[in-house]
Amino acid sequence: MSGKEVLRIEELNVFYGAIHALKGISLTVNEGEIVTLIGANGAGKSTTLNTICGLVKPKSGRIIFEGKDITDKAAHDIVKMGISQVPEGRRVFANMSVMENLELGAYLLKDKVEFKRRLTKVFERFPRLAERKGQLAGSLSGGEQQMLAMGRALMSAPRLMLLDEPSMGLAPLLVKEIFAIIKELNEQGTTILLVEQNAHMALSIAHKGYVLETGNIVLSGPVWELAENPQVKEAYLGG
Ligand code: ATP
Repeated sequence: MSGKEVLRIEELNVFYGAIHALKGISLTVNEGEIVTLIGANGAGKSTTLNTICGLVKPKSGRIIFEGKDITDKAAHDIVKMGISQVPEGRRVFANMSVMENLELGAYLLKDKVEFKRRLTKVFERFPRLAERKGQLAGSLSGGEQQMLAMGRALMSAPRLMLLDEPSMGLAPLLVKEIFAIIKELNEQGTTILLVEQNAHMALSIAHKGYVLETGNIVLSGPVWELAENPQVKEAYLGG
């Protein structure tokens, strides 16, 4: 499973004014893995993803993607290099159609044949999006919007996909469906960094996990090990 290193974060410190949101965290994601970052509200999970994709700038530390230092790169360059984020709360463009949302995911792509190929793949993966391609994104159900947000990210053919709380606000059955899709995407070759409050689901599909508490990584390891850890059981898996 553990292929070559795709992402390495070294001693990352992030501040929002006086708030020290990330306190020197380090982590690695290897090719072919699903790595999950679990933690309570406000632990710094979204901040970690936003810093990787260039939306938040760290005070110190380094982010290395495929051997290149991307710490000071602009967000649009980071997308171009092969990282795509599916943001928390899905954030599809509600007043645009499903198709327009997907087109935006590939806005950097000039090759029409490649665009068609990626679109076909997304529609195969998410047949409901194909059925609703002319429909306004805002009129989709919560689960469909999550699928659209994932489809949009896939349109940029990322080598690393960052997923922020894909289970948020979804009914249990849909959460299962979304996680099954994440697992399939991974099995087909996408490396994934998954942020989740639903530790139970996250640990069930990931290979490796990190536990974040108030800006510090307090535990890490293979998911089977974390799932058996009394601290993790107590705090994140309902005892
Ligand atoms: P959640 O699941 O609630 O999104 P999280 O683990 O993703 O939690 P972050 O959103 O990364 O946590 O927040 C980490 C800390 O930074 C929190 O204390 C939060 O209040 C603070 N924070 C996050 N974004 C900002 C911001 N834009 N301005 C100021 N403080 C922020």
